Amino acid sequence: MMKEFLREDLRDFQPYQANDVEYLIKLDANESPFDLPDCVKKQLAFELMGKSDFNRYPDPGGRELRGAIAEACGVDREEVVLGNGSDELIQILVHAFINKGEVALCPVPSFVMYKICTQIGGGIAVEIPLDENFEYQMDAYYKAIEEYNPKMIFLCSPNNPTGNTLSEQEIIKLAEGYRGVIVVDEAYCEFSGGSLSKRIVRYPNIIVLRTFSKAMGLAGLRIGYLICNKDLALQINKVKPPYNLNRFSQRAAVLMLKNQDIIKERIRYIIKQREELYRQLNGMAKVRTFPSQANFLLIQVPDADRIAKRLLDEGILVRGFQRDSRLKDCLRITVGLEEENRSFVRELRRILKEERQ
Ligand code: PMP
Repeated sequence: MMKEFLREDLRDFQPYQANDVEYLIKLDANESPFDLPDCVKKQLAFELMGKSDFNRYPDPGGRELRGAIAEACGVDREEVVLGNGSDELIQILVHAFINKGEVALCPVPSFVMYKICTQIGGGIAVEIPLDENFEYQMDAYYKAIEEYNPKMIFLCSPNNPTGNTLSEQEIIKLAEGYRGVIVVDEAYCEFSGGSLSKRIVRYPNIIVLRTFSKAMGLAGLRIGYLICNKDLALQINKVKPPYNLNRFSQRAAVLMLKNQDIIKERIRYIIKQREELYRQLNGMAKVRTFPSQANFLLIQVPDADRIAKRLLDEGILVRGFQRDSRLKDCLRITVGLEEENRSFVRELRRILKEERQ
């Protein structure tokens, strides 16, 4: 009955589905396995015991955090816009740029929020398939620009859930001949050796999306940001809710950024673990492992749903893709701590052996 209250075009809408089950080892959401560093915890606690200022709204301009991000990324503060997670920024960008009925090109398989936010925003999501090895096919984008005259193009590099990247030259070439906005989601760029952000601010129509949820380990505090040229940032700020990023998260992110040594060491650890996990999985019969530049690995196994269920029986939570036909029999494994990855490999090996008998 209540369904009638919902906008007509959204009544059969498929929302984002996050796992909500009990687990011992969590390898399903591409989070960092590391807790907040002790030095950041202590500083936050110390500041809270002084004056919290939680009775006051946060700084609407997020000046301190935008300044710290700008410094870390080698851009100007005016080229940074903050979001309550990059999820919110995807929504803000759709609101800012897509008129009702206009098209956004979304890669598939990729992060589903591009499509979800476009549809909720009243736009039309046209899906551009990756090829059979999950590589981007740029020809398909050029063709789709001709055919659909899209207002916006989403790219994800490294792509979630396939782990592959798109070269800077390809992105810039696409942007140069295109009269719309290109959003390059770099949620995992710390694990792939770099971001486009320093260079894209020279382009009028490229936006880089980044997050504190992955390499920075602050998924629970919901901190995302985008980087683009100043003029475009000014337009996006017209649409952004004024107090979207809370006071506590802003401060935690500033303190985290002061600890570059810890951040770098943690990134190195995850990359090393990713390579070790790849080596182990790649050597297993019946497992196809896709190379990845992110903090997760995509694998293809016989009867993935059943294997995911059996892993969960052992307390190991991984990500399955029941709704996506391109990802049939795929599982996405977040790179965790060494002992967590070992447990996963051990259990997977055992399950595959038993399934064969
Ligand atoms: N982009 C990509 C590619 C992601 O995988 C995710 C999280 N899974 C996000 C954006 C959203 O991140 P957040 O909202 O936590 O910043």
